[in-house]
Amino acid sequence: MIPPSDFAARAGAVFEWIDRYLNHVREYPVKSQVQPGEVYGNIPAEAPRTAEPLERILADLDNIILPGITHWQHPNFHAYFPANGSVESLFGEFVTATLGAQCMIWETSPAAAELEQRMMEWLRQAMGLPESLEGVIQDSASSATLAALLTAREVATGFRSNEDGVPSGLRVYASAEAHSSIEKGMGVAGLGRKNLVKIPVDARGAMIPEALKEQIEADRAKGLTPIAVVACLGTTGTVAVDPLKDIAPIAKAQGLWLHVDAAFAGSALLLPEYAWMKEGMEDVDSFVFNPHKWLFTHFDCSVFFVKRADLLIRTFEILPEYLKTKTRGQVNDYRDWGVPLGRRFRALKLWFVIRGFGLEGLQNQLRKHIELNQYFTQQIEAMPGMELMQEPFLNFSCFRLSPPNLPPEDRNALNKELLERVNRDGSLFLTHTVLHGAYVLRALMAQTYLEKDDVDRSLAVLRRISAEFL
Ligand code: PLP
Repeated sequence: MIPPSDFAARAGAVFEWIDRYLNHVREYPVKSQVQPGEVYGNIPAEAPRTAEPLERILADLDNIILPGITHWQHPNFHAYFPANGSVESLFGEFVTATLGAQCMIWETSPAAAELEQRMMEWLRQAMGLPESLEGVIQDSASSATLAALLTAREVATGFRSNEDGVPSGLRVYASAEAHSSIEKGMGVAGLGRKNLVKIPVDARGAMIPEALKEQIEADRAKGLTPIAVVACLGTTGTVAVDPLKDIAPIAKAQGLWLHVDAAFAGSALLLPEYAWMKEGMEDVDSFVFNPHKWLFTHFDCSVFFVKRADLLIRTFEILPEYLKTKTRGQVNDYRDWGVPLGRRFRALKLWFVIRGFGLEGLQNQLRKHIELNQYFTQQIEAMPGMELMQEPFLNFSCFRLSPPNLPPEDRNALNKELLERVNRDGSLFLTHTVLHGAYVLRALMAQTYLEKDDVDRSLAVLRRISAEFL
């Protein structure tokens, strides 16, 4: 065991490792190239009986672990949605780990509860969200959406489901492009996955509000009970934006809980030029976005706003003797705002990030990514045989190779092969989606320290490998 008195003397090796990683991450293959079982096979079958030197552990970190890491902080990581960190956020994480506080209630660290409250207010103001919203940090958008579904369920059943079990036929609506976390949440909440009704989308992948209204009315006519709508600002496949301004009045008129999943694209609300996305927000009951996706804050940090915190608390509150406190009711005990009891001090890294960047710094960085994406897509469009599948939006684009002489039915197989070859090259990492039956490549220009040179490096590889197919 290393005593704290040796910390300064021993930490140097770890900090050197971190410094080397941060500054050389570009040199690794972005997507891990190991085969299944390779890392496992390199880890001894039994734990060491006696202490091993830190140097040996760090050496194995390089030799065994790093080859099996997909480098999410690599600037040429353009896959999925990002999980960005920053040096500021890393510093926050160091301090969080050092404090090792478990922040379940106000009394277990008043500063954690009150900093969290302030950070939620800072973000609410900066994003121009309604003042009526109160926020809490959850581990993930999936957890926040589950919390929203559970609260909607309790509200709709007069807070009886927690006690008696869930009645059947409670219906929730989301677009056909909505994230799988909603479907998962339906199962976990006992609502039943089949009771998530997927509403058709338009050509861009956004929910069609008229179809929502018709579906709710049809369900009511069948004796079913609509309870909630989930609108998405930035779908996972193609970053489509559901028209909140048209969906909100429907949810309101029907008396349904309206939850907004803005897991990735929510960060763009820091930019006034994207304020149109939040039209209708006054009628939203809950809203989630992930600073751990596109706000330079390490995973995990998911910001969840609710209009009626009392309803959320009533859904989750449970009070064993050992958690009874004198301050109850005067302060925020965030354990009552979601599923887990124990909570990390996540507000600290947000505080480091928001103060370290400043709101303008955050805006500049978001805009830089959006500009780099415009550059990327112009270059993609100019590549022989490449076609953009939709207008670039924020820092996202999707495209495919469509050689003119190739029959349309063979294009999906070709693009699958293209994606595999690109990712095997190791210089960049892309993922795919299927858009109206077409297999397309998706790319995000989103990593915190992305520069034009990095974008050029990705483009060069795409140019080279796609040319092999022409
Ligand atoms: N919602 C959307 C639109 C997403 O794209 C994702 C993940 O990519 C999620 C929710 C789930 O996010 P989390 O991993 O924070 O649960």
